[in-house]
Amino acid sequence: TPRIFSGVKPSGGLTLGNYLGAIKRFVDMQGPQFETIYCVVDLHAITVWQDPAELTDATREVAAGYLAAGIDPSQSILFNQSQVSAHAELAWLFNCVARVGWMNRMTQFKDKAGKNAEKVSLGLYAYPSLMAADILLYHATHVPVGEDQKQHVELTRDIASKFNHDFKAEDFFPMPEPIIEGPATRVMNLRDGSKKMSKSGESDMERINMTDTADTIAKKFKKAKTDPEPLPETLDGLKDRPEARNLVDIYAGLSEVTPEQVIAEFAGAGWGKFKPALADLAVAKLGPISEEMARLMNDKGEIDRILGEGADKADAIAQPILDRAYDITGFLRSR
Ligand code: ATP
Ligand code: MG
Repeated sequence: TPRIFSGVKPSGGLTLGNYLGAIKRFVDMQGPQFETIYCVVDLHAITVWQDPAELTDATREVAAGYLAAGIDPSQSILFNQSQVSAHAELAWLFNCVARVGWMNRMTQFKDKAGKNAEKVSLGLYAYPSLMAADILLYHATHVPVGEDQKQHVELTRDIASKFNHDFKAEDFFPMPEPIIEGPATRVMNLRDGSKKMSKSGESDMERINMTDTADTIAKKFKKAKTDPEPLPETLDGLKDRPEARNLVDIYAGLSEVTPEQVIAEFAGAGWGKFKPALADLAVAKLGPISEEMARLMNDKGEIDRILGEGADKADAIAQPILDRAYDITGFLRSR
């Protein structure tokens, strides 16, 4: 069976972008046709500063988000990355396979480092090596991600093929495929349609958090940047209207229809009609999830137990693959 691996960083509260672009799709992929492994990638989170107590909390919150949205620990392996040390170990091998020139082309690094590239952590720069390790450690074949992670999955393929080639270990690491599907693979910032919605974005008004109250969700959509035009008669009419297009895509993602169907329903409607409809829809979809998240967050022992059991299962797959990678590399191993 094809094996899916993906992850979300505990670098802040979960957003609607994380839900539509990642978590909701992870839930949809559960079932007998795939083996599914979902991770809270805490090692990735510390590539930028995280207060230790907040990191612990955020790790549980991401786990609660997965569970509340429908990830079922009896169907999927759910764990946090730092409990399986093979991730960090394989990442080191990949740091010695990947080339500096490859990392220099990563647009996420450029975005996150900004003008301050000398001051960011070395880990932020090497992030794609660790992500390659996450995926290849399980010989995962498919990686559901948002559009922003496409380049990193492509780099993962480059690392896999260079490792296989350099060590004459043909086909040891499979070439994973990114899966980037649906209307909401790149949910945009509500105040600036040229930027992605992110957990770590500056202002809370630019994103919908999965735990926002109904009032907050309504207020954020009401204040979301748009143009003065009503919704067009066809999708083509949204071509140069990124903020409008974003709200239509969010509506489509939440209601599981195509953007064309949303336009067919709302053709000619003004924002005074569309925004409240969108807010109602978001509240209807996110409300029950955030309630369940709150319930789970009151039972930290239960979350920790699920993550621990998941880590045992993940480790059982990862360790033999890491051992083979060590043998292929030529490391002397006598215990
Ligand atoms: P950060 O700002 O800390 O990088 P983030 O919101 O980008 O946080 P990540 O943990 O980096 O979230 O990404 C987790 C998953 O969510 C990835 O698969 C990523 O592609 C997806 N994702 C993140 N933001 C969006 C978005 N705006 N639209 C669709 N998918 C997204
Ligand atoms: Mg991100």
